[in-house]
Amino acid sequence: MSSARRARVKMKPFKACRNCKSLVDREAEVCPICKSTNFSEDWEGALFVVSPEKSEVAKALGISRPGRYALRVR
Ligand SMILES: [Zn+2]
Repeated sequence: MSSARRARVKMKPFKACRNCKSLVDREAEVCPICKSTNFSEDWEGALFVVSPEKSEVAKALGISRPGRYALRVR
């Protein structure tokens, strides 16, 4: 019998844009990349893109601008 529970950490310093997956400060009201206001606090994996044109991961995620992105946004 195991009582171990996996609690998701809710206090992340960033929220993720649902439109372009960029991670922005929690206080931000508009996404600096795509100007969207559709954010999610439920995201996983941080990706730092410096040169999108050289990154296979960035290409796979459709990222075209340098920045900080979430790998998965719900
Ligand atoms: Zn965005």
